[in-house]
Amino acid sequence: MPAGNFEKLKYAFAYGADAVYAGVPIFSLRARENDFTKGIIKEAIEYTHALGKQIYLTMNIYAHNIKIDKFLDSFCEMSDLNPDGFIMTDPGLINKSLKLRPKSVIHLSTQANATNWATIEFWRDIGVQRIILPRELSIKEMTTIHEKVPDIELESFVHGAICIAYSGRCLISNYVNHRDANQGTCTNSCRWEFDLSVEKGSLVETEMARPEEKEYKPIDGKYSIKESKADGQQFELDEDEHGTYMMNSKDLCAIELLGELKDAGICSFKVEGRSKTIYYVATVARAYRRAIDDLMAGKPFDKNNLREIMATANRTLMTGFMKRRPDEYGENFEDGVSSPLTHRFAGVVKEYDAATGTALMDVKNRIEIGDTLEWMTPTETISQKLEAIEKPNGESVDVAHGGLTYRLPIPFEPGEYTMLRQVLREASLKPELIPVK
Ligand code: SF4
Repeated sequence: MPAGNFEKLKYAFAYGADAVYAGVPIFSLRARENDFTKGIIKEAIEYTHALGKQIYLTMNIYAHNIKIDKFLDSFCEMSDLNPDGFIMTDPGLINKSLKLRPKSVIHLSTQANATNWATIEFWRDIGVQRIILPRELSIKEMTTIHEKVPDIELESFVHGAICIAYSGRCLISNYVNHRDANQGTCTNSCRWEFDLSVEKGSLVETEMARPEEKEYKPIDGKYSIKESKADGQQFELDEDEHGTYMMNSKDLCAIELLGELKDAGICSFKVEGRSKTIYYVATVARAYRRAIDDLMAGKPFDKNNLREIMATANRTLMTGFMKRRPDEYGENFEDGVSSPLTHRFAGVVKEYDAATGTALMDVKNRIEIGDTLEWMTPTETISQKLEAIEKPNGESVDVAHGGLTYRLPIPFEPGEYTMLRQVLREASLKPELIPVK
């Protein structure tokens, strides 16, 4: 599971993760979300090892010359803290790191795009212990890699956001706002809302063409793009009042494919999302924990685990490249944001008062009397209709606002890591229609 900070790390473990990955400041992608100082990393490693679990440190930038010395100093410093391994991308830095500390455990980042068994053989010979496979591989390809190179560990992403480009091979963010995805500062600009515009011949013409009324008017006609020699493959370009989203990949969810991935030789399942909330981390960790435990116990896949996943914000889910090429099905043309499908994070418990049967809550999103809520613990989900809300001074109110503290009735004694979510609507598991080619 991703550990964007120490709090998320604790929730990930409480809700079932076996291992987490955390970024080393400035040498990790997702550098902006990172609050891990050296002191906090040391504490996080000790905390993890006391639980008997694993923590991997991510140092997966493609470095420019200026960063090499600092990178290697930082690598040695971090090695002394005794993490379970490092996640790296840059071949030169992997080579130098292994020369400095030959016993280091290095996992090859997905950013390195090791898409074939010959490349993976090369990394094994260099001394890399595990390959985090590119998201662009099918399960069939993973199987072949495992058959050809059985003596290296293979890890696969099973959940989370997907780049519209090969991971790490993207300059959209550099182009749009000078932030380099390969230095950990991607702004997800591929998902932004882009407006269609047409170049006009003069200022007057341009100004006259601008609609005067504020009301949205759809563009006329049906726009699409198609590579001139590609036969029949058409990418629809549409615009609504929010704009147009032509590069917005759906998110990966392979929770139903864990058995196939295990049979293909995958020994570790990985979830993306170091910038996601503790609610996301907890919900996804718990669902995958249950699915893995069922798999190992020989039980069939429980659809409730997929319903749980739908309780987190996403950009519409798909199985990526694992079963078939997603083509245009892999994009969400409607909407660039990640939104909650069935549930929304409502808050976390700060204190419990057994005498009144209430909990003092850090409320994260607005809830009101009459809402259907669910309390989440690492092992259970308990439903409750919200019948009372109090401010900390005891005043009764009808609405609790995000960012403030309120007291709510709770039907059980909550343990650490208990959180609350609001039910927005029932999860539907009806399959989306996929066009047959
Ligand atoms: S801009 Fe989009 S495709 Fe490019 S690295 Fe960032 S998330 Fe990936």
